[in-house]
Amino acid sequence: MNGQLSYDSSETNWMKNVIKEDEITRYMENGKDFIDDEEIWKKIERNKAPEPQKVRDILQKSLAVETLEPDETAALLNVEDEGLWEEMFETAGEIKRKVYDNRIVTFAPLYCSNLCVNNCLYCAFRRENSVEKRRRLTLQEVKDEAEVLAGEIGHKRLIAVYGEHPASDANYIADTIRAIYDVKVKTKNGYGQIRRVNVNASPMSISDLEMLRDVGIGTYQVFQETYHHETYQQVHPAGTLKSNYPWRLYALHRALDAGVDDVAIGVLFGLYDWRFEVMGLLFHARELEKRFNGIGPHTISFPRLEPAANTPFTHESKYKVSDRDFKRLVSVIRLSVPYTGMIITARERADIKKDVIPIGCTQTDASTRIGIGAYSDRYSEQEAERQQFILGDTRSLDEIIGELAGMGHITSFCTAGYRCGRTGEHIMKLLRCGQEGRFCKLNAVLTFREWLDDFASEETKKAGEKIIKKELDEIEEQTPSIYQPSIYPKLMEYYKRIEDGERDLYF
Ligand code: SAM
Ligand code: SF4
Repeated sequence: MNGQLSYDSSETNWMKNVIKEDEITRYMENGKDFIDDEEIWKKIERNKAPEPQKVRDILQKSLAVETLEPDETAALLNVEDEGLWEEMFETAGEIKRKVYDNRIVTFAPLYCSNLCVNNCLYCAFRRENSVEKRRRLTLQEVKDEAEVLAGEIGHKRLIAVYGEHPASDANYIADTIRAIYDVKVKTKNGYGQIRRVNVNASPMSISDLEMLRDVGIGTYQVFQETYHHETYQQVHPAGTLKSNYPWRLYALHRALDAGVDDVAIGVLFGLYDWRFEVMGLLFHARELEKRFNGIGPHTISFPRLEPAANTPFTHESKYKVSDRDFKRLVSVIRLSVPYTGMIITARERADIKKDVIPIGCTQTDASTRIGIGAYSDRYSEQEAERQQFILGDTRSLDEIIGELAGMGHITSFCTAGYRCGRTGEHIMKLLRCGQEGRFCKLNAVLTFREWLDDFASEETKKAGEKIIKKELDEIEEQTPSIYQPSIYPKLMEYYKRIEDGERDLYF
């Protein structure tokens, strides 16, 4: 183990059994993983100064919702002309609308524990950060958090987040997922419930992931942080579990093999060159598609390194990404993996989110608190020593929904797709041919109606009503060309029943 880190015997014993070598090697080809650093740089170099026509041809391929080839993404990353970047932003937005229409999904993170055996240089939860106040929520406390989120704010989706530690192993994660699904609270006109629990946690074994599948895990997220092997070793000190690059790289292969249908990838931008990392994400998406019958990442996340308490690395990194490059990288991810969901988080400031959401984002968190127990403890502002990093956007869900409505986006609380088996391979096909949007539009209207009636302020309600009216008119107009004639009357029946207090009606 790392000389500077000390563990007690139960931690040491637990750590010895986490990584299963054969659940890494079985996926490798000739003993190698699928990220070839040298090859990535060669591709970036080889595609310097692409012809505008070549770039436009690539954009047509993205518009056809086809995953790009690495040389094509490398060409986009090399564009220098500002006008051509503008065309890329526009096309990225067009693809977003084609695949996901004007919908955006909101969720909240629920940090369950910040105990951690790792020592990632960029994270306030790292082992040797002695100023961090450590805590693992009890199951009752997890429920208390979920009650605030579902009953007072109106969230329907959470992402539960955990440090890597024996106290927050797969058994604890499974218990917390169950506890969250158990919560049902009365609201103004109906009741609130969390209908989908996604998880951001460390890589696990296939058998642990099977247990999480059985308790109804939503999407399982593991960010590689950096795909660059050497940088990976520098920021994840030797001897820690997280220092094992391939164990992490194949985490989602194991998840899919365990029957967890929706998996999510991501990079912590700011650890290494952003263009290399975008290539890494593309290689990861293509590898998953190749191995798992076309199932690529359900979502891609692109957090930027944020300041964190007593964590000097977050200021010192020479690869921090500027706002200009951030917008560029978001557009190239959208163009390269056109079907995928893309998550922008409250790490980003409100003005950045407003600028970047229209070019490709499909999900954002809101009313975000990332301290352990922060929702039910009700501390209002951020407390650096209780959280993993400092947030850029602490606005309420109500404020964010109001702003999104003003921008023409409908916030969808729909989780029906997952509950009707529209996951994995099935959802990938629907997304690629633009069909998922039809069900989603109906369910977006119904779930938004619920939320407006239960939680919206008067101002947000006004903005929301306008969007709902526009959506209903569109659905009526598209009957029978897109929707079967029976759909619209059924939609209106559900709509009325929701206004009368019924909940959770969906297509
Ligand atoms: N402990 C698990 C792991 O490492 O996989 C769970 C993830 S951690 C609690 C959630 C994510 O936060 C990390 O994967 C990392 O990308 C991100 N993160 C960590 N430190 C950060 C920082 N200073 N700024 C922004 N994001 C950070
Ligand atoms: Fe632990 Fe995850 Fe933070 Fe690393 S990023 S120190 S593994 S919580």
